[in-house]
Amino acid sequence: MKLKYYGTAAAEGVPALYCSCEVCKYSKIKGGKNIRTRSQALVDGRLLIDMPPDTLYHYQFMDLPLSQIKNVLITHKHADHLHTPTIGVRSGGFVKEELSHLNLYGSMPSIDLIFDDLRKSGVLDRGKWNLTELSPFMSIQIDNYTVTPYKANHAYETYPFFYGISDGEKSMLYGHDTGYFLDETWAHLEENKPYFNLVSLDCTMGLAKSCGHKHMNIDDCEKVRERLFKNGSADESTIFVLNHFSHNGKASYDDLVPIAENKGFLVSYDGMEIEF
Ligand SMILES: [Zn+2]
Ligand SMILES: [Zn+2]
Ligand SMILES: [Zn+2]
Repeated sequence: MKLKYYGTAAAEGVPALYCSCEVCKYSKIKGGKNIRTRSQALVDGRLLIDMPPDTLYHYQFMDLPLSQIKNVLITHKHADHLHTPTIGVRSGGFVKEELSHLNLYGSMPSIDLIFDDLRKSGVLDRGKWNLTELSPFMSIQIDNYTVTPYKANHAYETYPFFYGISDGEKSMLYGHDTGYFLDETWAHLEENKPYFNLVSLDCTMGLAKSCGHKHMNIDDCEKVRERLFKNGSADESTIFVLNHFSHNGKASYDDLVPIAENKGFLVSYDGMEIEF
């Protein structure tokens, strides 16, 4: 399998909109991998995860193959992961060629928000979409993949999910946005014992103090890794990636890399591609 990160930041981006803290100032001056857009990733060039406002940027400057993508998983309805106007313009009047259906999958609040916003903006009947509500822990077949939604420890009113994705041979866990996993999610993992070749973990709080829920810092990510090891869901050959960063984590890409590498984590950056 192949995972490509197009966007690797939390809601405000890095450097953050309107901010001139030390991390933002440094990132702006240094540029390169220190610059992060809002979260979006693509599995094997075909299964898209999330639809942030920066989808346009990923398409225009990073070759996101948008017109070929038929399936999109939405983690939750926060605007850095689900920007409905970006979906709405995939409709007659905006797109000149005939497109096939776009299949969008997510929890009920995400699916409801997409439906309501497409209807309100008058494009619901002008585009082709299939909206599918997923249930936690109920695996579903999407394209070549078995996808399992796990309950995330995040803003509960959004019914947030993170996803296990398997092509039958290899398997990955895309763990964003979430704090240290919920008991319910651990119980499911411990009962079913999936094995992951790649694990991508929320590290919004970086080197700062853990916020306890909603997001993780690097210490929380180590605790998750330890428990996945104990469960047999990961081992020495599993690739662990830290992702979804904020200036609140008090570390730029350059600050974080040596510390993370020392602990056996890769640090994501916009455009990073991993084959496993
Ligand atoms: Zn987020
Ligand atoms: Zn800042
Ligand atoms: Zn969120």
